[in-house]
Amino acid sequence: MSKMNRRTFVQLTGATAIAGAVGMPHIARAAGGKVVIVGGGPAGATTARYLKLANADIDVTLIEANPTYHTCFMSNEVIAGERSLESIEVGFDALKAMGINVVQDVATGVDGGGKTVSTAGGQSFAFDRCVVAPGISFDYNVDGITEADAEMVPHAWKAGPQTALLRDQIQAMDDGGVVVIVAPGNPFRCPPGPYERASLIAHYLQAHKPKSKVMIIDPKEKFSKQGLFTQAWKDLYGFDTDNSLITWNPASKIGALASIDVANKTVKTDFEDIKAAVINFIPAQKAGKIAIDAGLTNDKGWCPIDKATFESSTVPGVHVLGDASIAAKMPKSGYAANSQGKVAASAIAAALAGNDAPEPSYVNTCYSIAGKDYGFSVAAVYRYNADEKIIAGVKGAGGLTAVDASSETRAREVQYAYSWYNNIRRDIWG
Ligand SMILES: Cc1cc2nc3c(=O)[nH]c(=O)nc-3n(C[C@H](O)[C@H](O)[C@H](O)COP(=O)(O)OP(=O)(O)OC[C@H]3O[C@@H](n4cnc5c(N)ncnc54)[C@H](O)[C@@H]3O)c2cc1C
Repeated sequence: MSKMNRRTFVQLTGATAIAGAVGMPHIARAAGGKVVIVGGGPAGATTARYLKLANADIDVTLIEANPTYHTCFMSNEVIAGERSLESIEVGFDALKAMGINVVQDVATGVDGGGKTVSTAGGQSFAFDRCVVAPGISFDYNVDGITEADAEMVPHAWKAGPQTALLRDQIQAMDDGGVVVIVAPGNPFRCPPGPYERASLIAHYLQAHKPKSKVMIIDPKEKFSKQGLFTQAWKDLYGFDTDNSLITWNPASKIGALASIDVANKTVKTDFEDIKAAVINFIPAQKAGKIAIDAGLTNDKGWCPIDKATFESSTVPGVHVLGDASIAAKMPKSGYAANSQGKVAASAIAAALAGNDAPEPSYVNTCYSIAGKDYGFSVAAVYRYNADEKIIAGVKGAGGLTAVDASSETRAREVQYAYSWYNNIRRDIWG
């Protein structure tokens, strides 16, 4: 017994015995406490990794539905034929090598009172703290189309087979056709994403099917980085001329979206019927299903949280972060999810050790690539405002690429985007 450390002792005797014998709290089941994380995307994987870095004795289980993960970031380049689907795929081996228990299964229940997560595979995982980071689910609330139609009308808003499907449809269409992108209303994953996608599809069409067009139908009257995108479209794709490769059509111009005729590939608004060669319908969004099922969402389908720790406002002991959470002023982005993962990991590690959470700060940068050697970005640093309990932007930190930036700067931003991509992948999945 003399050489036995506390961890071995707990393993040998069983947590319940030790907790019962000396009256220690529930968290004593594992030396550093047990954390179960649902979702191996940027939010969940970052939390898992940074928990282990904070304290290797924390017992971390990561439950992820898929054997590998495809990043949405850079997926628009896949759709435009600029990179392969394999190049945006990551595995979980590096997390496993850190001692994280990666389980491939679908979490079906989170019991905040009983402190267990149950899965479709019939497993049950006890936790001291739980992290729910399932990303988004879709609201197919438009006439004529249901989620089952995504095999014909891809959303490509979760990367993987959907990304390849949209790419293949665009590559197979005849020259002269129209690619219709139906953008979602706010709030949604990656606010600049639909407009970057339109740009890169235009880039592909310009080279391969120059008689074709991209048409964006938008319920919104303005969109993220609008000045930079419209400048890019003018510089690259003839925007605002009769021969523009891209048109942007807010509801005030084209009418509200009325229905989608999947079989006839027609998008109908209150004012027009648009015959498409390819439809990319990006539905309205809400938190991933498990968050809704676990009672973590509000009536709008998103998860309210304590913005200093990401602990749920509705289920104590359960943290929600990434796209599923309400973390304004941060956007729903992969980099934001990564930053939130670090904040949550610090807060959880502190709580398990019986300490107060450290004061958080957060960061986000979003790069957009609009064409060859043409990139731009928005960056922001945030702090927690304890008086108002909000995440507030730090004035003077971050900023936006200038609309009249030089071509050298635009080209450099593309290289920065690639460099960011390589770095963030390592930071999230190891
Ligand atoms: C086209 C496009 C381009 C983008 N570009 C950028 C960019 O350039 N920069 C940027 O920062 N962000 C970008 N984003 C946004 C970014 O991809 C998301 O914000 C980010 O993926 C959110 O991370 P998350 O971990 O919250 O959710 P997700 O990435 O969706 O991860 C959630 C994970 O949970 C798993 N899961 C869900 N439910 C369960 C369950 N019940 N059981 C087990 N596992 C489950 C899912 O399989 C998934 O792996 C882009 C998005 C799109 C669509």
